[in-house]
Amino acid sequence: MNPLYANLGTTIFEAMSARARANGAINLGQGFPDGRGPEDVLAEAARALLGESNQYPPMAGLPVLRQAVADHYAAHQGLDLAPAEVIVTSGATEALAAAIFALVTPGDEVILFQPMYDAYLPLVLRAGGVPRFVRLEPPEWHITREALERAASPRTKLILFNDPLNPTATMASAAERRLLADFCIERDLIAICDEVWEHVVFDGRTHASLMAEPGMRDRCVKIGSAGKIFSLTGWKVGWLCAAPALSSVIAKAHQFLTFATPPNLQSAAAYGLGKDMAYFMGMRAGFQRSRDRLTAGLTGLGYKVLPSAATYFLSIDLTASGIAMGDVAFCEWLVEEAGVAAIPVSAFYAEDAVTNVVRLCFAKVDETIDGALERMARRP
Ligand code: PMP
Ligand code: GLN
Repeated sequence: MNPLYANLGTTIFEAMSARARANGAINLGQGFPDGRGPEDVLAEAARALLGESNQYPPMAGLPVLRQAVADHYAAHQGLDLAPAEVIVTSGATEALAAAIFALVTPGDEVILFQPMYDAYLPLVLRAGGVPRFVRLEPPEWHITREALERAASPRTKLILFNDPLNPTATMASAAERRLLADFCIERDLIAICDEVWEHVVFDGRTHASLMAEPGMRDRCVKIGSAGKIFSLTGWKVGWLCAAPALSSVIAKAHQFLTFATPPNLQSAAAYGLGKDMAYFMGMRAGFQRSRDRLTAGLTGLGYKVLPSAATYFLSIDLTASGIAMGDVAFCEWLVEEAGVAAIPVSAFYAEDAVTNVVRLCFAKVDETIDGALERMARRP
C-alpha cells in the first residue's frame, strides 16, 4: 500500500462528526450550516434534474455555469475571465487536486501557510511536491516577507494561498496580497488561490482576489465552491479559473479525477451565481448574527474569543481563557464530557503546531448555539 495513505489518519472533520454522533454532542466541529440553503437554488436543481439531461455534461463544465462563473467574478471582483478559462470540478477539493497534480512535478517545492486546510499537504505529497512551511502566528496570523524568504529556494514552484483563511477566520490585507504578488512575480511562481470563503465575509468587508493584483492574472489558479456560496456544503460543485496555459493542463488532470460533475447541480449553481447582491448580503447578515451570538455567549462564559472576519468559524484561545489543557485534550473533554464537538487548530499544522486554539462553527440556528453555550458553561 502507498505509505502516504496507509499512515494517514481520517480527516479531523469526519472523525469529529463521528464522535459527535456517537456522543449525542452538539456538532460545532465540521463546518456546515444548519439551514436548508436558498429555496430557489434548490428548486432550480430539482427542475434541472427532472427537466434536463442527466447524461455526461461536457468535461470542463456546462457552458451556462462556465459563463455564470466568469460573469459573477466580473461583477463581484472585477476580474476579466473568459468562460473558456473556467473548469467546473466536483467541489473545491477536486479543483485543488487537479491543480496540484497538474502543476507540481516531483521535486518541486510548494509553499504552504500553516495553519492550512487539511487536504493540502497530502495532495502536495502525492504529487511528489516538497512542502516548505510558513508558520502564521495568532492572533494576527500575518504573512511577512521574511517568512516567505525563509521558505523559498530556487526549486520553489508555487504557493498555495487560502484567503479568507480556514481555520483562523482572517482575511489577507491589501499589503499582504501585494507582498505575495511581488514575491510570485520576482520568483516566477504560480499561486493556487483557495478562495472558497470569498462570499462568507462580515462587517461590510469584501473579498479581493490575488488574481486581481497587477501582474497576477496569468499566474493564479483561483478556486471557488458553490457549497460555500449557497450554504449547501454537500453539493460538491466547485470550479477553478486560470489563464489558458494553466487551465488547459489542469483540465487534463480533471478529466481523469472525476471527468464531470452532476449537471443538475451545475445548472442550479449557474442560476445561483446570477442572484442579486441582496441574497449575498442577507446570507452574510445571517451568519454574522450567529457569529455575534456565539461570541457574546462565549465571552460571557469567560472564554477569550479571537475575532472572526469571515468563514463559518471563530476560535477560542485556551490560554487566555484560563484553560491549561492543550487543544486536542480540550476537544476530547468537550466532546466526551460536555457534549460539544469542536476542532483543535493543531490539526491544521504538519509541524510546530499552535496548540492552544480551538475552532468552533457558528453557522447554526439559535437553539443549536444556545444549547452548545449551556454545555460549555462547564469547565474542565
Ligand atoms: N478549501 C477550504 C479552505 C475549505 O474550507 C473547504 C471546505 N470547507 C474546501 C476547500 C473544500 O470545499 P468543497 O466542499 O467545495 O470541496
Ligand atoms: N471545510 C470544512 C471545515 O473546515 C470541512 C470539509 C470536510 O469535512 N471535508 O470544517
